[in-house]
Amino acid sequence: MILKVGVVRDDRYLLHQTGLDHPERAARLKTVYRMLDKEFADALITIEPEPATLEHLELVHTPAFIRKILKTSEHDFINLAPDTPVSSQSYISAWLAAGGCIRGLQALLSGRCDAVFCLVRPPGHHATPDKAGGYCIFNNIGIAAKYAIERHGFRRILILDFDIHHGNGIQDLFYEDDSVLYLSTHSLGRYPHTGEWSETGTGRGLGYSVNIPVPNDISDMDFLYMYWKLLGPIMRYYRPELILVAAGFDGHHRDPIGRTQLTEQAFRWITEAILELRDAVKSPPLLFALEGGHDAAALADCVKQVLDVLTWKERRPRIPLLLSPKGKSLVERAEAVHRKYGVWIS
Ligand SMILES: [Zn+2]
Repeated sequence: MILKVGVVRDDRYLLHQTGLDHPERAARLKTVYRMLDKEFADALITIEPEPATLEHLELVHTPAFIRKILKTSEHDFINLAPDTPVSSQSYISAWLAAGGCIRGLQALLSGRCDAVFCLVRPPGHHATPDKAGGYCIFNNIGIAAKYAIERHGFRRILILDFDIHHGNGIQDLFYEDDSVLYLSTHSLGRYPHTGEWSETGTGRGLGYSVNIPVPNDISDMDFLYMYWKLLGPIMRYYRPELILVAAGFDGHHRDPIGRTQLTEQAFRWITEAILELRDAVKSPPLLFALEGGHDAAALADCVKQVLDVLTWKERRPRIPLLLSPKGKSLVERAEAVHRKYGVWIS
């Protein structure tokens, strides 16, 4: 089946200036947008973002925090956190990043698109209700998920986060909530120093946070094996009605921060796995939102791989799944931690 694939893009995402040496800079998206124009000129539906409304933002953030972000417009430069500088027009990008994810979701819910990639910045998965940090201001995916739950009655949302950093902001939002299953693969010993195996949720949300710390020498095949073996049972047992992907590409080996051994192929294979496995649950709508990825050329290569798969005219034979001892031991540990909750494995 040919998917109708949308992208959220807008040059106002370049207004957020972070300084010359900052890894999360406008050049990232400029390079990605150039790649889109060259490689996908007629293949994508362009979705224009609108700023998030106050009502959208307050699904996640406190009124005082939202006011604080608005007031950054009074400064040429100011730090919201030691690693999160903003310029006088950053608030425009931030409002549009959250609003762009809402627009992307609306395009899915209306049937205009089957899959959407929100190519936005600043990223969001580290943002908490009252704190910016880790280059993130508003929690773009968290807001989209809350919107889907509260405005559209979704009860089973899978959020998959393959950024090399743990998405502490997303996890916090849904830690006590069984309407979101949050699956994160990340490496430990880095910002934000959360995402241990033992963080599995609490109360009603017990068993719905699935954290898989991965070693730095993880390879593409390990990654594919791990995702294939985890997503299969998650699709079958949890049966998500909506899939949101916190798409961070800083695991790429050329990334100045990530430095694992992954190549852009890993992200192609994950996308293939998601597409194939979601067929088992009537192909729920699929939204990717950009998180990390700080080598502009590597980032564009990774995004291209994801969009290549989404825009395929026909399903191609996927790469044969080879046994990966590293991938297998990660999956077995996840199963051992989570079997007692019976959420996706019993
Ligand atoms: Zn990251």
